[in-house]
Amino acid sequence: MPQTDHLKTDCSKCAALCCLVLAFDKGKDFAFSKNPCEPCRNLSGHRCSIHDRLTQEGFSGCVAYDCLGAGNRVVQEVFAGQSWQTDPRLTRVMMEAFSGMCEVHKRIDLLRVAGTLPLDPREDQIRREFLERLEEHRWSGSELNDFEVGLALEIDIFLHAIRKYLPAGSPIAW
Ligand code: SF4
Repeated sequence: MPQTDHLKTDCSKCAALCCLVLAFDKGKDFAFSKNPCEPCRNLSGHRCSIHDRLTQEGFSGCVAYDCLGAGNRVVQEVFAGQSWQTDPRLTRVMMEAFSGMCEVHKRIDLLRVAGTLPLDPREDQIRREFLERLEEHRWSGSELNDFEVGLALEIDIFLHAIRKYLPAGSPIAW
């Protein structure tokens, strides 16, 4: 386990990226609809103005969502704490970087789960090497943009190859 657990979400070090980037539809989990890349009308600075009563206000979908630390990592590691709110020119690149980092952190999560499977030593070595690359690398925005068409594909092929170790009926799937 690295000293910094990259999958630990810390909204205080983020810039409300999920409340900007993600879309949702009005229904049982959200009280109104929001388009992608539209700041949520409940945002107040980087904070949710109804954070303490999200479920009561009809936003259980927000309670259930977890970026797995992607938002705080992007803001701190790629943008040195800057925000699209104070510099609107950053809005597009921050949104793109957040989307890329979500994909990175999704793979970190899956590779950690894969460590609980009965992999052979060679497979576990590959798993650990992928994990180290994702966790230790200091990502740039352009690298995050390229992630899904590069390293993510290699990892997905590896994960597909070790699916055979998943127990039958496992709720885990990739
Ligand atoms: S309701 Fe609050 S937590 Fe949900 S998207 Fe809007 S600002 Fe973010």
